[in-house]
Amino acid sequence: MNPDAGPADPLVERMRPFRSSIFAEMTAAAVRTGSVNLGQGFPDTDPPAAVLDAAVAALRSGHNQYPPGTGVPELRAAVARHQHRRYGLEVDPELGVQITVGATEALAAAVLALCGPGDEVVVLEPYFDLYAAVVALAGATLRTVTLRPPEYTFDPEELRAAVGARTRLVLVNSPHNPTGHVLSADELRILAEVCRAADVLVVTDEVYEHLVFDDHRHVPLATLPGMFERTLTVSSAGKTCSVTGWKVGWVSGPAELVQAVRAVKQHLTYSGGTPFQVAIAGVLDDVEDVVADLRSSLERRRDLLCDGLESIGLRVFRPDGTYFVTADVASLGVTDGLEFCRELPERAGVVAIPNQVFYADPADGRTLVRFACCKQPEVLAEAVERLGAAFA
Ligand code: PMP
Ligand code: GLN
Repeated sequence: MNPDAGPADPLVERMRPFRSSIFAEMTAAAVRTGSVNLGQGFPDTDPPAAVLDAAVAALRSGHNQYPPGTGVPELRAAVARHQHRRYGLEVDPELGVQITVGATEALAAAVLALCGPGDEVVVLEPYFDLYAAVVALAGATLRTVTLRPPEYTFDPEELRAAVGARTRLVLVNSPHNPTGHVLSADELRILAEVCRAADVLVVTDEVYEHLVFDDHRHVPLATLPGMFERTLTVSSAGKTCSVTGWKVGWVSGPAELVQAVRAVKQHLTYSGGTPFQVAIAGVLDDVEDVVADLRSSLERRRDLLCDGLESIGLRVFRPDGTYFVTADVASLGVTDGLEFCRELPERAGVVAIPNQVFYADPADGRTLVRFACCKQPEVLAEAVERLGAAFA
């Protein structure tokens, strides 16, 4: 070894761009500065009592050792019933449902199972940071189709140009993080047409499936003609049941695709979270009751935050669903959202997420910033007040 070369970077080269997640950086900044954290998307209250009670009961009734690698049978069956009841999808609870450590593991295992070097993965941009990292981990190549404000729709021609002979997988997220866009019937139809024509596989990230507002409706892409057989549908209990720390997720679809995910997933974590799996199995049949209050209160909190941000002069893109509101901070004289978010804790006592980190070319989201509305109303009001005072 050359003693003058300095310590070599031990991190494998393809993962160097993904060294630090923006969520870790911003949550650490919130803790360090005592700021109001509208960065990372997690509720600042406990889940409904029925959800907590289900976990306590599971812990107290012997569900404390490894679950089967496929997930506890009760939860696999409950996921299959959920997909059928809500969307008319028929999945086999044995072979067509795999329980995972959050949607995160489901997405990572799916990409690693289906993609390798030379494959292209098409994603809607801005994209949840995990997607680019797991595509890199698989050695595949990311291609983006941009959702453009104010409606955050995609241009069908851009999609048609992106999906081609090298495309292995189209990875779709709706309701969409960070924009809050819910794909419309027209957009779903075009996506399905393009995926069928190119004969590609599809993974859909539907973790916000229950958190849609106004008259928007979440429709899984797998329900469109010719799509079920090529689509893996991913979701999790984190957002639906306000238990982001439990990390209970699942992937469902045709048996052969789910078996491919299973092959990889077993070598990542093998399994995890037995009592939490049992608890979610116990609440999923009545999940509409669990989530009804959350959805209406989240809609009110979305409005509170949007109105507040508008009142201090920001252009706000009111979301159709999810935990998040995107706003343009250019009117505050800001030219770089990442710098703005790094200074914000000290300057205003507020933490937010710069959308530019979710774009292949940061210039596309330069002055866009994401604020989480899944916090208590008084916390949102405090954040708006602090922002107003700092930028008066
Ligand atoms: N997909 C999206 C779009 C997300 O926002 C998140 C973050 N919660 C995840 C996946 C990961 O979900 P989980 O916490 O269940 O791993
Ligand atoms: N999904 C959450 C968000 O978008 C955070 C997930 C994470 O920390 N990896 O804020």
